[in-house]
Amino acid sequence: MSQSAVSQYFQNIRQAATSIFEGLTITLSHMVRKPVTIQYPDKTPRPVSELMPERSRSWLKVEMDICTACLMCENACPIDCIKITVAKDSPKGRAMSGFDIDMAKCMYCGLCTEPCPTGAIHFVPEFERASYSLEEMVSHFVPEGDYVVPYKPPKKDKGEEGAKAEEGGAAETVPEGTTLN
Ligand code: SF4
Ligand code: SF4
Repeated sequence: MSQSAVSQYFQNIRQAATSIFEGLTITLSHMVRKPVTIQYPDKTPRPVSELMPERSRSWLKVEMDICTACLMCENACPIDCIKITVAKDSPKGRAMSGFDIDMAKCMYCGLCTEPCPTGAIHFVPEFERASYSLEEMVSHFVPEGDYVVPYKPPKKDKGEEGAKAEEGGAAETVPEGTTLN
């Protein structure tokens, strides 16, 4: 074996040792560092729902005390997740006997929340509801056998401006030069 080959042989050994040492240094440094990951769900410093962004779309909730039973959310849902049943002759009169949302089908598009006149249906940051059963993924907002009377929003006070507009007619509010069809 020539002298240059022997020299190359020992140089390779030195490089391999250096490389292993560098790798081990990085590994050891991680063993003493504070981890950046958290052990979910056992050791989170705060509930994860509190860490979700303000406008996150997680789980749908309906505030039944301000639901008018207008069915706009049901009609807006493109995949029929929402089923509202309204009974005309319940012991409480016209009332909802069912308001179910099938979250197993929901695609979190938010289309149901947009037309709601009272903001009754909205997303909440809760999302930890994994289940082995599809039935458990259905939220029931009216307890079985019960009825919820629809909310009636108070009529808006027309106020002075509204009264004046009614008295004077629409002509006063139309800008000059506008052509009415
Ligand atoms: S978020 Fe979309 S898919 Fe889910 S219930 Fe509302 S409209 Fe339907
Ligand atoms: S949740 Fe809103 S949109 Fe749906 S029925 Fe109730 S009031 Fe109407």
